[in-house]
Amino acid sequence: MAEVKHGRPETLAAQALGVVDAATGALIPPLHPSTTYEREADGGYPRGRVYARADNPTYDSAAHTLNALEGGAATLLFASGMAAATAAFLALQPGDHVLAPKVMYWALRSWLLGFASDWGLVVELVDTTDLGAVATALRPGKTKLVWVESPANPLWSVTDIAAMAELAHAAGARLAVDSTIATPVLTRPLELGADLVMHSATKYLNGHSDVVAGTLTTAQVDEYWTRVKTVLGQNGGILGTFEAWLLQRGLRTLFPRVRWQCASAQSLAERLQALPQITDVLYPGLPTFPGHDLARRQMRGGFGGMLSIRIAGGRDAALAVTGRLKVWKRATSLGGVESLVEHRASIEGPSSPVPDDLLRLSVGVEAVDDLFDDLTQAVDGE
Ligand SMILES: *Cc1c(COP(=O)(O)O)cnc(C)c1O
Repeated sequence: MAEVKHGRPETLAAQALGVVDAATGALIPPLHPSTTYEREADGGYPRGRVYARADNPTYDSAAHTLNALEGGAATLLFASGMAAATAAFLALQPGDHVLAPKVMYWALRSWLLGFASDWGLVVELVDTTDLGAVATALRPGKTKLVWVESPANPLWSVTDIAAMAELAHAAGARLAVDSTIATPVLTRPLELGADLVMHSATKYLNGHSDVVAGTLTTAQVDEYWTRVKTVLGQNGGILGTFEAWLLQRGLRTLFPRVRWQCASAQSLAERLQALPQITDVLYPGLPTFPGHDLARRQMRGGFGGMLSIRIAGGRDAALAVTGRLKVWKRATSLGGVESLVEHRASIEGPSSPVPDDLLRLSVGVEAVDDLFDDLTQAVDGE
């Protein structure tokens, strides 16, 4: 890891740790597309780099900055959030028992119930907001990884990371947290006792809807982490050079983007509650939200930029609302500077636990009144 300069997290992010390029004095790091590195005459590699599937100096800025923001021992970049998340499971052994949430990011849930189960992991889904249910599901000595997502897609349920870490550790398991929605601006899972933090960097970390990337940050460099690195290097799901460079660029504005998005989401959640066509607003920042007290303890400075609304009249009414929106873009994904709306049930299919009157909203950095006015006219209809 590069030398971590002093400063508060906002400063570390804005200046990407204050690193200046030694060769040129450039404040912005260079892009290194080279796939290979020169050997010395004696056959050695004194600069430590051999081949770009193993390592790429363009990764350093984003990886070191995120590592500092999460307070980790090491961070790896992956070709996508899914490449990062699946590497955490593929570093286990067939036969190992793992726990994951019942309501979680859809594609990872499908992979766990499909590929990972076929490969030999014993996958059990549990309501991770219910500590008693988790305690019952844990199999001491057999459970190797507990996976949580907080707040979790797309109902934004909040899981108690510190309590989950205690439960997992008492059973001899690691705790991994998909912190894509919280970002290190709002929650630092490693400080709460988690062993591993995963991000879909496609979302808030990059923040501009122009990079697909994923990350894992570990609390300790140990044998398990070495296996994670082997999965990355051998399966080969590495991030492209330009994507890594764009990611360090996006990370510099993480704090102002996320804080703006939190403020707008909070304001929208409060105002949308008053609209009669909206039967429920799901947002951890609302005092009426079931996980609100926990979110107040666990999230600092905001409750995230994601919320969901339920529309009176069910599925067809919800789809009709999306059709009338002009400012909000109808698209999947989240965490970018432009606001997105999505009807999750139609994306996830019949086995989805998501209600079919639900619209998921990813709040961008537009004027919040434009976002509110657009939703108001769309739920009003013609
Ligand atoms: C998008 C997302 C993922 C998957 O990341 P990709 O970059 O799309 O592979 C995982 N978890 C959460 C919470 C996400 O939003």
